[in-house]
Amino acid sequence: MSAYAWMDDALCAQTGPDAFHPDGSGHGYRAAAKICDACPVREACAEHATRLEGAGSHADRHGMWAGTVPRTRAKQAETTPKAQRDALILRLHDRGGMDADEIATAADCNKRTVYRVTATHRDQAAA
Ligand code: SF4
Repeated sequence: MSAYAWMDDALCAQTGPDAFHPDGSGHGYRAAAKICDACPVREACAEHATRLEGAGSHADRHGMWAGTVPRTRAKQAETTPKAQRDALILRLHDRGGMDADEIATAADCNKRTVYRVTATHRDQAAA
């Protein structure tokens, strides 16, 4: 299964993109937020945005992803890129349905990193 299969169910793909990229005319993100609230792939979307944007600044982020505006995502990313990557690996691992190769691709790392992160987490959980 493709790491991007979730996009097939994205509600924003069935609407126009304008609501997700306000032009500054004052209508804001309200319409997009309503769509995201009802979207069945919001969690996968948030993970994708985290991976895509990394630790970029507010200015490096554009549009609404998973119901969050660029400023909010910038605040949420105020941890190290490594911590974010490890969190993504664990979320994908815990959710199931992806093998180590797919998780490594989604987290932009190698398979050994996936094994190390999940093993460390398992050891910590067992302690
Ligand atoms: S949650 Fe993500 S995929 Fe779903 S509508 Fe919002 S931006 Fe699109």
